Formats: sequence, structure tokens, C-alpha cells
Amino acid sequence: MPEILDEIINTWQASFEAKPFIPVIENAGSVSEVGDGVALVRGLSDAFISEVLSFEGGIEGFVLSLAPDYVGVVLLGEDKYVREGDRVSRTGRLLSIPYTQNLIGRVIDPLGNPIDGKPAPKSIKFLPLETKAPSVIEREPVHQPMQTGIKTIDALFPIGRGQRELIIGDRQTGKTAIAIDTILNQKDENVICIYVGIAQKSSTMAGIVKTLRDYGALDYTLVVTTLADQSPATRYIAPYVGCAIGEELMRSGKHVLIIYDDLSKHADAYRELALLLRRPPGREAYPGDIFYLHSRLLERAAKLHKDLGGGSMTALPIIETQAGDVSQYIPTNLISITDGQIYLEKELFHEGIRPAVNVGLSVSRVGGNAQIPTMKKVGGSLKLDLSQYNDLKAFAQFGAELDPVTQKKLQRGEKLVELLKQPQYSPMHVGQQVLILGAYSLGALDDIRKDRVQEFERVLVEEAKRFRPDLLKELSMAPKLTDAHKEGISKLVQSVSSTFGS
Ligand code: ATP
Ligand code: MG
Repeated sequence: MPEILDEIINTWQASFEAKPFIPVIENAGSVSEVGDGVALVRGLSDAFISEVLSFEGGIEGFVLSLAPDYVGVVLLGEDKYVREGDRVSRTGRLLSIPYTQNLIGRVIDPLGNPIDGKPAPKSIKFLPLETKAPSVIEREPVHQPMQTGIKTIDALFPIGRGQRELIIGDRQTGKTAIAIDTILNQKDENVICIYVGIAQKSSTMAGIVKTLRDYGALDYTLVVTTLADQSPATRYIAPYVGCAIGEELMRSGKHVLIIYDDLSKHADAYRELALLLRRPPGREAYPGDIFYLHSRLLERAAKLHKDLGGGSMTALPIIETQAGDVSQYIPTNLISITDGQIYLEKELFHEGIRPAVNVGLSVSRVGGNAQIPTMKKVGGSLKLDLSQYNDLKAFAQFGAELDPVTQKKLQRGEKLVELLKQPQYSPMHVGQQVLILGAYSLGALDDIRKDRVQEFERVLVEEAKRFRPDLLKELSMAPKLTDAHKEGISKLVQSVSSTFGS
């Protein structure tokens, strides 16, 4: 009996003794094809999506597609350094970006290299580009306003911190202008802004950086940029870089505003990569998971629960449409992912109604809860006034005889449209917005000629700044629009109206 026991113990011990070294062959693959900034690699069956792979020639790439007998890799360097047959090894690392707080105020490319001529920021840690979005429990309903400083948006389609609001429109309709004005308006709001430029022209990009610098907005803004002639890889990762940095700031309790300008070009870069990697094309030749790609990105914008610091990340993705068609694949995807859209229309833009917001097709689904109460009160009837005006305008174009009531409505509408016009780079403080829209709702414009509306607005604001700064402040903070506020507005209107007789 003891001999049998000894034998069992010996065999058992033997099983623990050092085994001969067997190399893990799955972790070394070889390049089977390379070109156009991508490579197909065989022998890495355990590699995972977004994993960084290291190539023999010294450059790295990340996994974008997994096929049964190869993985599709996007190269993060020039493909001339990679040849067929080169050894490739796994790193086990997710694609990451070097991060430091000093990034704010900088202009970088998606790989973290500075392109503003200043030294590279010293990184303190790496952030994975893809992470899981905050869960429902980690979130709080959107309830704080994100003021854009643009009257039409703040009054009619208010945006809240943590919301995702799409800016959509044809080429050259003022999409970027809205995003930049929103950044300019965050000057004293304690919001960190991130502008991600995807496949922009270098002149446009230089203009944007200059504007931000000139208006002192670069101090609280990070610009991540890729140009149209850069590799699809950098164009593809740019929004994730901005998002990962924004998310890190949000998790440290900060409020972040992120602009993706624009996701149509991001979708194109993804399509380009997917086709090169031989993924089967789907609708409009985009790969089948393009919806998931954008929803995963935008889901990461959130308002965090106060136990997690209460930070937020508000996303303003931009999408370009062709001939005003919102029913195309990528626009419809984005419309259904986001919490609303600001729809910009070419016709309005050319008529001189700028920002060219189409009031009928724009919506903000969650921002209403975040709108300040005084604005809610004065802006409440504007949408109805505008839609009635648009209906009547179409009717009046037929030359129909109009009764006095209808005529009055038309005139009021015309003046409101005039009042909502706003030049670029002049975001307006919310107190001033409440003042002028309050004046409109009290009928102050009824006796003023249409072509003098903008002048009236300017004088009214000047007057208020000079004599009633206290009222402007109160209008932006008060929990309710009181009779005293209305009286204050009326008095200001009276004091400037005398010079504006029709
Ligand atoms: P793209 O499709 O080329 O990206 P976009 O839709 O982003 O164009 P912008 O570049 O913002 O449009 O604006 C187009 C032009 O309209 C610019 O010259 C800009 O200065 C002008 N513009 C934009 N908004 C306004 C405004 N509110 N008032 C006057 N001009 C404006
Ligand atoms: Mg633009």
C-alpha cells in the first residue's frame, strides 16, 4: 500500500516539475500583404480588436478587423517600412494616447504630436482610445445648461451639459461657425473645449486655430486635427483621441464640450479602411457596423452622477448633407443616435438668415430641462410664432388678401426672424438674450421698422449694460421671471423706443 502511495505522490510531483519551453506560436505572425497604409497578418489568431501590434521594421499598427485566417491591421506609420513576410508580434496593449493635463491650449495630431511648434507635452499616462461608455447608474439626467450664446439655439433648442446635439447641413451653411461660437461663449463658464477637426483643409484649420487664439479661447481649448491629405488611419482615430481626453477630464469632475467636425468624413475614413481590409461592404459601401461605430463614440458623452464628481461631456457632432437630404444613411444614423439636431438650410443661409437654422426640422430632446427659467418663459412662444409666420408667409406669397390680424402676425414674425439673426464670433450672454426676447414678447418691436430691429437690439443691450447691469445679471440667474423683471425690461424699452419711431 505505501509503495502505491509513494508512486502516486511521485507522479503527482513530477507533474509540477519544469516543463520544456514551448514557444507560444500564436503570438508571432507574419505579414501576408501590405499596401495603402494597411496590412494583412497571418498567425495571430488571438489578437483582439484595437490591439496594438508591433512590426519588425519598428512601426506599430492596430487591429481593425478579424477574419478566420488573418487579421486586418491599420498601420500607424508609413507602409514602406513594412514588407511581406515581416514578423509581427502582439503587445496585448489597447490602442492608447499619451495624456497630460497640459494638453489644454495645444494643437496636436491624433498620435499626440504637437503641431503648434511648441515642445511635445510630457505625458503622465496613456488613455485607451476605446472604453466602455458610462452606465445608466453612473449618469444623471441632463439638467445644467450649455449656453451656446446663439439666440436661436439657446431660446428654441437649448442644449444641456452631457447632451449630444447634432449640427447638420449642406456644405458652407455655417456648421463650423456654430461650433466655434459655442466654444467662444464658454470663456468664463469653466468648460474645457475640445475641437476635433477631421479631414479639414489646412487653411480652414489654420483659420480656426487663429480665431480661437484671437478671441482668447485657446486657453481652455484643445485642438486635435487631421488634414484631408493625411492617412485614413489618423482620420479614423481622431475623434477617439478627443473623446478619450474629454472622458478623462469629465471623470475628474470637469465640464467638457467636444466638437467632431465632421463625422461624415470620419465615416468615409472608416469605409476606406474597411474596404482596404476587404471587409464586406454594406449600404453605400460602408461596413455593416458603421452605426455601432458612431453610437459607441457618442454614447461616451454623458452627465456623470454627483457621486462620481458630477462632470459632463457635451458632444456636438457635425454632419454634412448632400442637397439637404437628411434621409441618407450616415445622417439618419446620427439623427437617431443623438438627442436632437440643429438643421441648417442652404436657402435660409443665402437669404441672409444666419445662423440658417430651420426651426421646423430642428429639435433638442433633453435640453428643455436644462434651460434657465427666465429664458423658458420669454422663449416659450417663439417657436409657435415662427412656425405660424412661415405658414402665413407661404400663403401671402400667393398674393392673397390678408386681414389685419394676419398682417400683424406676419409683421411680428418678420421682426422676430430679424431679431434672431446673429453675426459670427459674437455669442451673446444669456442675460442679454432674455432681455431682448423679453422685449419682443412684451411687444416692443411692434412699432419699430423691420430694418431697424437689429439697431434697436444693439441700443437696448447697450442701455441695459450701462444703466441696469444688475437686471442683466438677474435675468440670467433668477429662478423665475417676476413682474419686477418685466417692468425693468419695459422701462428700458421705453427709454430707447423714443428714438426708434416708425
Ligand atoms: P463646410 O461645409 O465647408 O465645413 P460649414 O458648413 O462649416 O462649411 P462655415 O465654414 O461655418 O460653414 O461657414 C461658411 C461661411 O459662412 C463662412 O465664410 C462663414 O464666415 C460664414 N458664416 C457662417 N455663419 C455666419 C453668420 N452667422 N453670419 C455671417 N456669416 C456666417
Ligand atoms: Mg465646416
